[in-house]
Amino acid sequence: MVKICCIGAGYVGGPTMAVIALKCPSIEVAVVDISNPRITAWNSDQLPIYEPGLDDVVKQCRGKNLFFSTDVEKHVAEADIVFVSVNTPTKSQGLGAGKAADLTYWESAARMIADVSKSAKIVVEKSTVPVKTAEAIEKILTHNSKGIEFQILSNPEFLAEGTAIPDLFNPDRVLIGGRETPEGLKAVQALKEVYAHWVPEEQIICTNLWSAELSKLAANAFLAQRISSVNAMSALCEATGADVSHVSHAVGKDTRIGPKFLNASVGFGGSCFQKDILNLVYICECNGLPEVANYWKQVIKINDYQKSRFVNRVVSSMFNTVSGKKIGILGFAFKKDTGDTRETPAIDVCRGLLVDRAQLSIYDPQVSQDQIQKDLTMVKFDWEHPVILKPVSPTALKQVTFVWDAYEASKDAHGICILTEWDEFKTLDFQRIYDNMQKPAFVFDGRNVVDPKKLQQIGFIVYSIGKPLDQ
Ligand code: NAD
Repeated sequence: MVKICCIGAGYVGGPTMAVIALKCPSIEVAVVDISNPRITAWNSDQLPIYEPGLDDVVKQCRGKNLFFSTDVEKHVAEADIVFVSVNTPTKSQGLGAGKAADLTYWESAARMIADVSKSAKIVVEKSTVPVKTAEAIEKILTHNSKGIEFQILSNPEFLAEGTAIPDLFNPDRVLIGGRETPEGLKAVQALKEVYAHWVPEEQIICTNLWSAELSKLAANAFLAQRISSVNAMSALCEATGADVSHVSHAVGKDTRIGPKFLNASVGFGGSCFQKDILNLVYICECNGLPEVANYWKQVIKINDYQKSRFVNRVVSSMFNTVSGKKIGILGFAFKKDTGDTRETPAIDVCRGLLVDRAQLSIYDPQVSQDQIQKDLTMVKFDWEHPVILKPVSPTALKQVTFVWDAYEASKDAHGICILTEWDEFKTLDFQRIYDNMQKPAFVFDGRNVVDPKKLQQIGFIVYSIGKPLDQ
């Protein structure tokens, strides 16, 4: 029986390994992590991450051929294939601070693999890493391995949070990069055989290591660039009377462009887009390509601009001050169908409104009060300089309440901000909300989920991203 071990039981490691276990009953899969609470949650009915369909997949294989454990060394030692899916955040200090990927977790995983291995292994980069990381990993493994043979593969993950299970069941492509040596090609073939249990062969792309590593950074940069492009257009729409949803529709009808990922919003979030573009920027700078670096930087600058533009719109619409005014915040996760708040635009929007001394009442169906408090008070870095941005002080946190539904969040509020496109916000009883709000009642729709005309008929003053202001 082939044995797989995955180091890192997070948003990527957990779902990808659960799907491999489900689709490959002949393979034993162990997902290991140094975080005891995470592993305990994976072994319970309350999984550590919210992802539609995940519970069902885990229930079908857990205890049969899928195991979650903190015994990292034992499972690594026994495995034929070791996936490494640890976090690769942006470095916060030292050389490359604010841009470069922090590979501390990766390096310690690689050293541990070398230490405990007694048989040959394929080591798979599942985390998103800078191009050429495999070369560094090879050095760490071969210099510490006591003659054991390791083959390094790059197999970046393209799933999107919120749709991870369907994405893993039907991936657009699986990408495998390896060395173009006989041993390297053999390792690529072995990993290909795992995916071939359910992925059609023509969707499995094999390349050299550097192309695979760089493709993941490129894919995220292109996706984020699309959002920043449409968000840049949204500002121009508001200035000219065009409607960004009409523009997106017309532009997306061009088959060379396509309709996906063209929704204007308060900005992109999530743990990957900003971090991976900053990583790309750093790699360009290190390779003497400042013009290319500046090109990608602009994608993040527009995203920052979109978030501050939204805060400024809220404050200026409400007669240039929100001091003491209650604002209902509907949604805190970075997108719907996830409880993940990493880099969510809601953090910057809420921080901006708190600086102007608003009273916030926050509701999200999947994000806990603890998490929101942590996000608002955590230290953040300005990636451009990098300096620490002032976190929300414990006193300012007194301006925040946490509630259990959208009606409670908007009760007695002067305005509401929709910051996540949860489906339930589309079907709210807005007449009831209006009746319970202060007047004039404002809606700031950061995700374009409501019909502004219908809300205006009720009596709301509505701001939707990229829509004419006087409609
Ligand atoms: P995560 O923070 O949710 O999970 C990483 C896990 O690794 C944590 O539970 C941590 O405790 C564990 N870990 C760290 N060092 C360890 C070690 N030495 N031994 C054992 N466990 C260790 O991160 P994630 O969102 O799953 O992302 C993982 C990687 O995948 C990142 O490189 C990310 O860029 C990439 N990625 C993420 C997504 C996504 O949507 N989240 C999508 C594609 C790729």
